[in-house]
Amino acid sequence: MKRLVATILLALAQVTIAAAQDFPNRPLTMVVPFAAGGPTDTVGRLLAAAMSENLGQQVVVENVDGAGGTLGAARVATAPPDGYTILLWHIGMATTATLYKNLPFDAATSFAPIGLVSEVPMTVIGNGRFPAGTPQQLVELVRARGLDISMAHAGIGSASHLCSTLFQSVLGVKVTTVPYGGTSPAMQDLQGDYVDLMCDQTTTTAIPIDTLAVKGYIITARERLRQIRNVQTFLEAGLEGFEITVWNGLWAPAGTPEAVVGRLNEALLAALQSEMLKRRMAVLATTPIAPERATPAELEALVASEIERWRPIILAGGEFVE
Ligand code: ASP
Repeated sequence: MKRLVATILLALAQVTIAAAQDFPNRPLTMVVPFAAGGPTDTVGRLLAAAMSENLGQQVVVENVDGAGGTLGAARVATAPPDGYTILLWHIGMATTATLYKNLPFDAATSFAPIGLVSEVPMTVIGNGRFPAGTPQQLVELVRARGLDISMAHAGIGSASHLCSTLFQSVLGVKVTTVPYGGTSPAMQDLQGDYVDLMCDQTTTTAIPIDTLAVKGYIITARERLRQIRNVQTFLEAGLEGFEITVWNGLWAPAGTPEAVVGRLNEALLAALQSEMLKRRMAVLATTPIAPERATPAELEALVASEIERWRPIILAGGEFVE
């Protein structure tokens, strides 16, 4: 009997190794848990194109939006752990761990990290008719009008939600927040003057700020960006503590064979060095991660430390999902 079990186990191990060696032999799905056209989607599509070249198979982006990215993440957490379904998400992996009481996945155990992808600051933007010309006027107006000000975000736990939570706490005021399935549809409503403000990654705000399609007020970084040189940093605007760096990461479901995760990491590293990706991200004020930081271990450690960093801020914000 023991012998039979050992033979079966050996056969299974051989099948897994053979599958890993053959990987990938068909197209892959990269789940982006927000609407098409937003910053996560933009990074995802650049990455998918560059990884496809390295893998010799198409990496097809699928947008599974809703609930701050948690619906798309749940889809990957429960997908077969074979490397053919992967998740491109962000800081939301860490924030939703505190914000949602009943997630169908665990940030620490449900995924096999592949690596960090990029980093990007956020910007507070307003619609063209918003009656504040400077960050100082913005702060005064938001403090005076409070709940009469509307601020769009991409669902509880999204980066834009985190940014709006921090913005309100730094200003000591509550505004009315409006959730969307991603910041691309939110940007359309902002430009249509249906909402007043939004805080979003520069990946999709740098161009509309530069072309004056929206008003750019504050950047959540310590240094100004050359792409939008007129936008003040949070320190220049006098908003101590209003600092956020959004990072994007790539994950497979937990249980994915190590060799497959290794192959996906190799494709990620190649993508991060692709001239097309670097050039495009530079225009979008988004920074590809240095290859030495694009490791599974670095991403795992970052998720753990970001959960701790944001927990007290989120707990003070008080906007939870039961
Ligand atoms: N920028 C969004 C966020 O706030 C998500 C997106 O639409 O990419 O997390």
